[in-house]
Amino acid sequence: MKIAILPGDGIGSEIVAEAVRVLEVLDLRFETESALVGGAAYEAHGHPLPDSTLKLAQSADAVLFGAVGDWKFDALERSLRPEQAILGLRKHLQLFANFRPAICHPQLTHASSLKPELVAGLDILIVRELTGDIYFGQPRGRRLSPDGAFEGQQEAFDTMRYSRPEIERIAHVAFQAARKRSKRVTSVDKANVLETFQFWRDVMIEVHAQYPDVELDHMYVDNAAMQLVKAPKKFDVVVTGNMFGDILSDEAAMLTGSIGMLPSASLNAANRGLYEPSHGSAPDIAGKNIANPLATILSLAMMLRFSLNQPEAAARIEAAVTQVLESGLRTADIWSEGTQRVGTREMGSAVVAAVKAA
Ligand code: NAD
Repeated sequence: MKIAILPGDGIGSEIVAEAVRVLEVLDLRFETESALVGGAAYEAHGHPLPDSTLKLAQSADAVLFGAVGDWKFDALERSLRPEQAILGLRKHLQLFANFRPAICHPQLTHASSLKPELVAGLDILIVRELTGDIYFGQPRGRRLSPDGAFEGQQEAFDTMRYSRPEIERIAHVAFQAARKRSKRVTSVDKANVLETFQFWRDVMIEVHAQYPDVELDHMYVDNAAMQLVKAPKKFDVVVTGNMFGDILSDEAAMLTGSIGMLPSASLNAANRGLYEPSHGSAPDIAGKNIANPLATILSLAMMLRFSLNQPEAAARIEAAVTQVLESGLRTADIWSEGTQRVGTREMGSAVVAAVKAA
């Protein structure tokens, strides 16, 4: 089996390097191949997702992705910006299901912005639809003035759209995921205002008929945003559209203490996937050996479980991360009084040692 390694920009190369060290010590004999993506690829090849990178990703069983983006590319036209690489990979690999677990490790409850009793034991899985919704709907654009100048532009528009098959397949993914957990799904929509999300709700109810053992409830997105900070442990599996999922999964991330702890998986119908931390390229801390590599290391564990059929290896990594946190080591983002501050590299070394010892 082959793993494509795409570190990307900013802290991408630092955090991916630590995950690769963990992979190597597992001694599983996967073939790995690296390529440039994002701003780094734009600088070398003139495009954030060069053909060679896309071909590598398409030929691999799984992709380990760091992050892309840097403020210095903000002036580029949209199609050449680093972030387009991730959208292109999702589209070409048909990655329609994004899994973002938000787990509050008991050792980190005090790092959350909520009271410890609200987050202790938190374990939510957000399932976000990735290929539809307002991010991809057509038409979209700006109504231009004859000379194209900004001053003359009067309107901009995007189209929110979901097809029945798109909703059906993400509904199946969510209900099946719930079967492996506590058998509860909350579908988050805005059915009171948007036609698209009334349709979403109707299709969810229809698909749910095939999963009588799973409980389904519905919640408007504004209420969901509130409940996530009021009583987050009420949720188990949350399924939602692309835009609401984008926002709610970042909100859920912060409940757990740091976005530096949260892995994610984006899967297609064949369970091939792209695995990446939930955070971005953090240009503010790049190159300083202070980024938290644990989200990327935990993304590797998700890869081993979902795409490479190595659940024991995945569990070994997760246990190693828990052990390292237990021992009191912390990167700056999760540091607190009484714990030992370490850098990216040292945190990676500690996980490598714990995996080796297991
Ligand atoms: P970000 O997630 O990169 O950073 C937000 C904050 O979290 C920053 O203060 C950063 O230092 C901190 N942070 C992030 N990851 C961390 C880690 N592992 N350890 C410690 N601290 C960490 O989000 P942003 O600042 O809004 O965006 C920066 C760039 O990343 C932008 O160009 C954006 O477009 C891009 N981005 C890329 C992805 C992706 O590649 N999938 C996702 C989100 C943002």
